[in-house]
Amino acid sequence: MTARVLVVDDILANVKLLEAKLSAEYFEVVTAYSGAEALKRIEESIPDIVLLDVMMPGMDGFEVCRRIKADPKTAHLPVVMVTALDQPSDRVAGLEAGADDFLTKPVDDPALFSRVRSLVRLKMMTDELRMRETTGQNMGLLDPTDTLQDANPSGRVLIIEDRPESCAWFASALQQVHQFSAVDTFEEALVRVRGGDFDLIIVSLGVRGFDGLRLCSQLRSIPEARHVPILVVVSEGDRRKLNQALEMGVNDYLTRPVDRNELVARVRTQLRKKRYADRLRRNVQLSLEMAITDQLTGLHNRRYMASHLENLLAGAARSAKPLAFVIMDIDFFKSVNDSHGHDVGDEVLREFAKRINANIRGIDLACRYGGEEFVVVMPETDCGFAYAVAERLRRSIETTPIEISRAPGKINITISIGIAASEGDGDSAEALLRRADQALYSAKRTGRNRVVADAA
Ligand code: GH3
Ligand code: MG
Ligand code: MG
Repeated sequence: MTARVLVVDDILANVKLLEAKLSAEYFEVVTAYSGAEALKRIEESIPDIVLLDVMMPGMDGFEVCRRIKADPKTAHLPVVMVTALDQPSDRVAGLEAGADDFLTKPVDDPALFSRVRSLVRLKMMTDELRMRETTGQNMGLLDPTDTLQDANPSGRVLIIEDRPESCAWFASALQQVHQFSAVDTFEEALVRVRGGDFDLIIVSLGVRGFDGLRLCSQLRSIPEARHVPILVVVSEGDRRKLNQALEMGVNDYLTRPVDRNELVARVRTQLRKKRYADRLRRNVQLSLEMAITDQLTGLHNRRYMASHLENLLAGAARSAKPLAFVIMDIDFFKSVNDSHGHDVGDEVLREFAKRINANIRGIDLACRYGGEEFVVVMPETDCGFAYAVAERLRRSIETTPIEISRAPGKINITISIGIAASEGDGDSAEALLRRADQALYSAKRTGRNRVVADAA
């Protein structure tokens, strides 16, 4: 993984040391010797991560961090405070300023590389999501103001610890703000986490009854917990365990004896990050759904059908199973608009879409193909079966009037339908569409309100 690291320290030797270590691991290094210079470099060279000294003359590291996190353009940038001080109160001050992590001077190599790698990995993932979210906003699919963040989120926190006094201590620190649960065995931990619904998992690596690291590695592979942060608690000085945990993808850690304020601050930071990532994922999902959905009827749109039809055809050819393509068009729809207005025309289209949905199976793909033309692609379906479905739908439209919001309260419409089927012979989407369209045309020409299947 290559990434650009900004190293900030007022002492030349400290900068050079970190620069040498990081360059040897193929990171690209940018340097700054004061807080003000750091902010300038961030603007110019857009680093992927910042290693920030705390004590600097002028603007100190806390203030630099606060400014990075307050600017929406840079708030997502991971910041690691590099500090000679190792007091919990400093760490809490750093977390309050928005720091993502801490390294204590002199910097231990494995800790340095594992922290930089894991923060950069996380950033690259959220960069991708942020980019897609921006695209969604630019396309008018998402509301750009929907970015409010809860500064003090409360969440569902699970702790895995088998020493009752330690568990009680964590409970007393967290249960006022959070929904707190505790489990004390390996098996129960897996069951609870698989059940989902946690925002944060705290694993004590000091558990007596089982191997906490092995549990972390299993938790990381549970799909329901893929996006749930894990915070481990390690004994002071147990670097080997800590590094292994970080390599496994654990998100953060606390060292014993745990400082209560630091615990509260780290839990808050993890919850805030999770909320942010959840929101990004949700928005990307939403804009994907909107991009493939017809806004009037809620059916898939033509673009989605076009790309999905290729996949369905390939699947049909592979399995040598037929695939039916049904195209439907409302008869004299123009006169519905002309006599009742465009709004009523829209109501008719929505109701027609509902009736299509009510008459097809889960594996069938319904979409709005154009103005008043709809298509249903039916996998594993031959022409005969598709004909029966189409005929049932045609009759239901003919015999059950559509309710409208204006006088006369309901209207009768009819539809014409064309069908073509691929018999798993490597038919192209284009050829299939053309045959179905010809069948539809023939239904229109021979009197409308009828189903015609392609003769081929
Ligand atoms: P035919 O029986 O030959 O299909 O006649 P038709 O009137 O249904 O066909 P034509 O293609 O001439 O007209 C389709 C009409 O559908 C014209 C257009 O204004 C209308 N239309 C297209 N999209 C929408 C829409 O989203 N809402 C409404 N209300 N009308 C639409
Ligand atoms: Mg029509
Ligand atoms: Mg038409």
